[in-house]
Amino acid sequence: MRNPAARTTASSVRKRPFAGSSGLIAALVTVASMASNAGAATPVPTAKPDAIADLVIEEFRPSIQLVAGVPVPVKKRDVPEGYVATTPKLVLYSQSPAKDYFGAANGPAPLKARSIGSYAKGCLAGGAALPQDGPTWQVMRLSRNRNWGHPVLIDYLEDLAKDAPKVGWNGLLVGDLAQPRGGPMTSGHASHQIGLDADIWLTEMPGRRLSGQEREEVSATSMLIGPLDVKGADRRVDPRKWTDVHARLIRRAASDKRVARIFVNPTIKKALCDFETGRDRAWLSKIRPWWGHHYHFHVRLSCPSASVGCKNQNPPPPGDGCGSNLTYWLSDEPWVPKNPPKPGEKPKVVKKRPMALAALPRDCRSVLTAN
Ligand SMILES: [Zn+2]
Repeated sequence: MRNPAARTTASSVRKRPFAGSSGLIAALVTVASMASNAGAATPVPTAKPDAIADLVIEEFRPSIQLVAGVPVPVKKRDVPEGYVATTPKLVLYSQSPAKDYFGAANGPAPLKARSIGSYAKGCLAGGAALPQDGPTWQVMRLSRNRNWGHPVLIDYLEDLAKDAPKVGWNGLLVGDLAQPRGGPMTSGHASHQIGLDADIWLTEMPGRRLSGQEREEVSATSMLIGPLDVKGADRRVDPRKWTDVHARLIRRAASDKRVARIFVNPTIKKALCDFETGRDRAWLSKIRPWWGHHYHFHVRLSCPSASVGCKNQNPPPPGDGCGSNLTYWLSDEPWVPKNPPKPGEKPKVVKKRPMALAALPRDCRSVLTAN
């Protein structure tokens, strides 16, 4: 099922992990009642079919019918000679929003693993899933189905999770990776498109398995001491929330050859600059200050060598990045609007057009149609 037209049904099923089973039962009840009515002139469903029931009934063909109360197999229709069954083809329109196609893909493209294009304009072939649970990690927000990535990313995350307890961190709560076939997301991120980005919560994994519902509802903790967009704001991490263990975890995450960059809030970058008293400050150059990112840190891997057509970013500038660039980030300048809207004036909202399929590398079409 990768037809955007059918998306509503599929995603509503996915988004209701707990309602899904009762819906399925309703569907089965409906099917069962239809089967027992198969001999009647007009089968009347006894239960109101819901979206899932519709899907099941479409496929349902009774193989048994009742003739005078006796079950008799239904004669199958003859198949014309040379007939080859075809699966409906996915029709791709260049100008349609790419996120509609990629958001509707429930499973990975069964191709050789390859990150195609750039972090914010690309897709993923041969995606692998990070298992929902590991000894030292748990995937959050399962209903989003975004625990997919290039196998190199999955390996990296499992390695990081394994090392987490060694730095005093119980385990990882893992946020969004990518959609099964990557591509632009239906909501949330501009990047995370080629299976090399992962969000890791700045909240430690608890000592028990969270339920499916908790994984939808539990919130991450912000490390900020207060809002950043006020004149003269205190732009530091909150010392009651931020600990050296957070810093050691991020240092471990960055000190891996596979990592190109890690995005954190500028307040966190400052805390890391202060934390590192050792000689080796090279890992700090990968820590990039960015908007948001105070509930989680965002790991970005370099293109795996076998991924033809995967575009790396330029490497971060040399040095630890703790100097003037950071001073700018922590000043009022990037945060406090220069011309705030006058009282009673509506703030201007610039609506961006969603990225069309045509904007993505050509090979992303094969990623969508591969079955
Ligand atoms: Zn992210």
